[in-house]
Amino acid sequence: MSITIIGGGFAGLSVANALKGKGVNPKEISVIEAKDKLGGLIDTIQEKGYTIETGPEGYRGTSIGIQKLIQYAELEDQVIPSTKISESLRYIVKKGKLRKLPSGPFSAITTTVFSPKTKIRILLEPFIKPQDIPEETIGSFVSRRFGKGLDPLVDAFISGVYAGDHHSLVIDYVYPEAKQLEMKYGSVIKGGIAMMKQLKKAKKQEQGNTKQEKKEKPPYLLTFKQGLKQSIDAMAKGTNTLLNQEVVKLEQEKQKYLVVTKQKTIEAENVIIATSPNALQNINVFGEKPKIRTREAKVAIVSLGYDVKQFKKPPKGYGFLAPSEEERFVLGILFSSQIFPHKAPEGKTLLRCFIGGIRHPERAEMSNEKLVQNAIEEVKDLLKAKGEPEYTHVQKHYRGISQLEKGHNKVLDYKKQIETQYPGVHFTGLGWTGISTDHLSRQALQIADKITNKKMMIPTPQNN
Ligand SMILES: Cc1cc2nc3c(=O)[nH]c(=O)nc-3n(C[C@H](O)[C@H](O)[C@H](O)COP(=O)(O)OP(=O)(O)OC[C@H]3O[C@@H](n4cnc5c(N)ncnc54)[C@H](O)[C@@H]3O)c2cc1C
Repeated sequence: MSITIIGGGFAGLSVANALKGKGVNPKEISVIEAKDKLGGLIDTIQEKGYTIETGPEGYRGTSIGIQKLIQYAELEDQVIPSTKISESLRYIVKKGKLRKLPSGPFSAITTTVFSPKTKIRILLEPFIKPQDIPEETIGSFVSRRFGKGLDPLVDAFISGVYAGDHHSLVIDYVYPEAKQLEMKYGSVIKGGIAMMKQLKKAKKQEQGNTKQEKKEKPPYLLTFKQGLKQSIDAMAKGTNTLLNQEVVKLEQEKQKYLVVTKQKTIEAENVIIATSPNALQNINVFGEKPKIRTREAKVAIVSLGYDVKQFKKPPKGYGFLAPSEEERFVLGILFSSQIFPHKAPEGKTLLRCFIGGIRHPERAEMSNEKLVQNAIEEVKDLLKAKGEPEYTHVQKHYRGISQLEKGHNKVLDYKKQIETQYPGVHFTGLGWTGISTDHLSRQALQIADKITNKKMMIPTPQNN
């Protein structure tokens, strides 16, 4: 079996790792990466005692896909879980101040983040008639089902996760599960309860059958002793990795596919295209450059390291998000060393400020000095820090996060057409059917299953 993966980011390497986990010899896997290093958006920088991630802070510990990938990459003893406090304490900015977000059913009743009217309207969701609205935006879906009172929270959440606009992202593409619950059960709440019951029952049955020991609850977030870069290296281990090789063409020849870079041609039975839809525009795929496009959110991340003594009350918990109506400079700030204490030296605190996104792409393009200056002002104002940070770092992602908006079905149709017409060719990566590492890790397992369970017969092209 020969497998070639185009793109050495998290998505491509997850497929390599899943294939290795399913018994494929790593020597049969080639990973072709245009840049001089693997990881794509993910990298870990260690400087002056601080550990900075260039992309995600960590992986979701509860994700089945992530758990499997850790097992396959033999990283179990390298995992660092997020702290308990960061799992239960999160904030939102409201009227210029940080307010605690509810962390459970009781605090959802007592919270002052939502008005009593909003709370009642949320409880009425099971009585709202379902409607199948094609390409409905997340903002419209949530307002229709739960009322407009949730809008600032949804706005903040979507700009925190997608650096996107909840009035542009489409529920069918971003959270298809929510839409399916409405369609199947008539209500998201009713469907959610039914799903939880089913899961509980399945778990009980599994435990009853195998008499397993009670497993420890996985952490909300996790990283590794050497940061997320450690997982990138472990997933790539043993594979035939080609760096600085941009793929320019993918074609079919008799029973094989040919992956062509500027330097060489690699034959493969299976090809995994693990780039974003926009990156694919530069590759001639079976005779033409795909005419598909998604909007991408530019993001700048300013990391600031302070002495805890510079705060009257040092930041506690996960971090905060800022709804657009608050007109803050940052989209939100992660309290990085509160989530993973080893990320800052003893007595110091590390904050990661997210800036720009679809709301303010021009901010992500500001000079590093301006970004740092504005981020420091936000920390002074919202977290009451005194003085300047002792450490600063700026990371910019100009080809940032793909937005799954109206018209995304053209991207999905293209993917389907190629996968149907060319057996053994698979798509993954940020911006096709999801953007999270959880989503991509599950997709990697599915692709590895398809490749290892079926012997693909590639049809000979008509003109050969
Ligand atoms: C600021 C930020 C915060 C994030 N936070 C989270 C988070 O909290 N949780 C979460 O789950 N996800 C988060 N993400 C998303 C996460 O980073 C992505 O899901 C993941 O890294 C995407 O991996 P990928 O391989 O699809 O894409 P990429 O990382 O972009 O990798 C694609 C690779 O393909 C290569 N490539 C492109 N074209 C070619 C070509 N022609 N030939 C060869 N190689 C090519 C590129 O050089 C690149 O290395 C965040 C992203 C950003 C930017």
